[in-house]
Amino acid sequence: MSRLAATTGATTTAGTRITTTAGAASAAGVAEAASAAGVTSAVGATSAAGVTGAASAAGSAEGGPAAQGASGAAASAAGCQEALLDKPQEAPTDPSDPLFYVNRWRPIPAAYPVSDTSPWMPCLGPLPRGATSDLLCLPYAYRYHTPEALRAVAFESPAPEGWTSTHDKLPVGHGGKVGFRALMDAARSEGHDLRVRSGFRPFSSQEIVFRGWMRAELASGLSAEQAHRRASTYSAQPGHSEHQLGTTADLIYRVARGGPFYDGWAPEKIAESAPMRWMRRNAHRFGIVLSYPKEDTAITQYVWEPWHYRFVGVAAADAMHRCRLSPEAFLNARFRAGPQPAFDLSPARSLADRDR
Ligand SMILES: [Zn+2]
Repeated sequence: MSRLAATTGATTTAGTRITTTAGAASAAGVAEAASAAGVTSAVGATSAAGVTGAASAAGSAEGGPAAQGASGAAASAAGCQEALLDKPQEAPTDPSDPLFYVNRWRPIPAAYPVSDTSPWMPCLGPLPRGATSDLLCLPYAYRYHTPEALRAVAFESPAPEGWTSTHDKLPVGHGGKVGFRALMDAARSEGHDLRVRSGFRPFSSQEIVFRGWMRAELASGLSAEQAHRRASTYSAQPGHSEHQLGTTADLIYRVARGGPFYDGWAPEKIAESAPMRWMRRNAHRFGIVLSYPKEDTAITQYVWEPWHYRFVGVAAADAMHRCRLSPEAFLNARFRAGPQPAFDLSPARSLADRDR
């Protein structure tokens, strides 16, 4: 899958806290940019091809929150006493906010973090004059094989003041730090080798990723519409990916020291691996959460992705872990966003087939 891996990154000082970003653009701007670039806009495409009136039961065979459908997010959140959900909050407009709410329906401003029309090539050269970014290239020890970047706050931050343990009495952070570096260091100290396979993606990289999956689906004999629908069950359309936030990483692992990394997509195999079991127990200690859990697919409206983790900060991560809420359910409840239109995941191909 390296052919689809985003080759992105940036050069700034490690440890810088988040800063402001390029100005906001409207959802329409994103759609325009997408269609100008030959990608069907998210809303148009999904309503033409994918939206059904009811949330699909796909992936919800185990019952739980998924069985409630997309509108169940607030309902599951209501069952959890959580101060962060007590009163409605305004959804952030700055995508550098770790709690920025993006999903299949809610886009990221098109100009974030720098315009895609700029010659900015993170990880491959210096930032252009005047560009502000706290995206940083990951040191080789933390990435898999392509240049990858994360927002500095998501890679390494001081543990928040007053937090020494989580709701389940686990220590917060590692060496006084939270974020993906601290997480990978802690995992390594317990014998688990985790790396970032894919981190930050600008709009243009997400476009390449989505088109790549479209091509793969078309090659299997589907019509353009079917291919678009099927790719949309597991890949976010440009403008809608958490990877565009710079706080999200697809993780890869190996189980034997010096052995190969597993770079397939079989969710059961990945979820059952020792490193990923460690992740599910410990990620919240580092402010990190699993975005697309198996039991929540009708709420997240994406298939199960046991490798895709997002930094949201320790307080939110601990609340999500305690309340068993995906970021989608948590943010939907926090911002009183209401039910999202449902997207039918039922024609999703098993992700293991993506290894083809
Ligand atoms: Zn991902």
